[in-house]
Amino acid sequence: MLDNLILLENIDAVASIIESGNRFVVLSHKNPDGDAVGSSIALMLYLRSRGKEAVVVLPNRFPEFLSWLPSADEVLYYDTDAECAKAAFEDADAFFCLDFNLLSRIGDAGEVVAALGAPKVLIDHHPQPSQEFSVSISHPEACSTSELVFRVIGRLSGVDAVSYEMAQAIYTGMMTDTGAFAYASTRKDIYIIIAHLLEKGIDKDLIYRKVFYNHSLSRMRLMGYVLYDKLKYFSKYNAALITLSHQELMRFYAQKGDTEGLVNQALQMKGVRFSCFFREEVPGKINVSLRSVDDFPCNAVAAEFFNGGGHKNASGGELHCTMDAAVELFKVALQKYKRELTE
Ligand code: 5GP
Ligand code: MN
Repeated sequence: MLDNLILLENIDAVASIIESGNRFVVLSHKNPDGDAVGSSIALMLYLRSRGKEAVVVLPNRFPEFLSWLPSADEVLYYDTDAECAKAAFEDADAFFCLDFNLLSRIGDAGEVVAALGAPKVLIDHHPQPSQEFSVSISHPEACSTSELVFRVIGRLSGVDAVSYEMAQAIYTGMMTDTGAFAYASTRKDIYIIIAHLLEKGIDKDLIYRKVFYNHSLSRMRLMGYVLYDKLKYFSKYNAALITLSHQELMRFYAQKGDTEGLVNQALQMKGVRFSCFFREEVPGKINVSLRSVDDFPCNAVAAEFFNGGGHKNASGGELHCTMDAAVELFKVALQKYKRELTE
């Protein structure tokens, strides 16, 4: 049996927000990943199944390997369709904020939403949520926001209310946020939920292939190049670094999503406890991805050195500098955290 992780008072608060409203907006974070998109679509489909109007608004587009998700083509993007998104915001009776813990994490859309009076419901698994939400369903112990959406729907309407399409989206989010159940996935509840999702008829092997076995030839070449030439091992610090300049990304025709997962590959190396990936998507702007194992808090490094944050074992940030300067900063961070990395 699945336990009742989420507080009853929060479930009651969400129930009354849904009952008393008609139009809802589901929001998730910038550079949306499988959990952001999966959890948002599942909740949108649930709200619609209750006879409500619901739309997902994301700050920018998600990678191509998620485009098969049900209703993925109905998502609105704030960067390319701000007018439409703002109209939905104005009409919203409540906002559901999924897979992020701070409104500024959704870019300009966050400022617009913050200024509106409609209730904001947080459903998220990042640590240290901000206090700006009317209802806060925040559980860092959950493997994903998608797990929490399953729990919310189950508590509000019973597991029968989860449709096949919702199950596909929820499974995708749980799978992507755990590297296909390779990390952050030891709690047995996860597999109780998966059993429910399988009962809805999802094909988990097919979902795996759609998401992870969907690389272009140029992505395969990029992976080879990274492992052969760009992976640096800092053995004294149990750390690894991958860098890709804007020029290198262009050389491999890298599309959105083509660099997904590279930062995790460095963790496959014996001895590596901390992995860092710098990619210069726009000249002069470097996106930072960090991953770690066990107790090493890469979110602390992200906050201290890379203008970011995230989970203990998966975090990110951004830098506005040259790649050389970023590499120097990484070395300073390694020195600062040497004890934690080597003890
Ligand atoms: P990724 O490396 O996949 O882009 O991000 C990994 C994790 O770090 C995600 O959970 C994401 O929410 C978090 N993250 C990425 N970039 C940032 C950032 O700039 N600020 C904060 N606070 N978290 C971030
Ligand atoms: Mn997540």
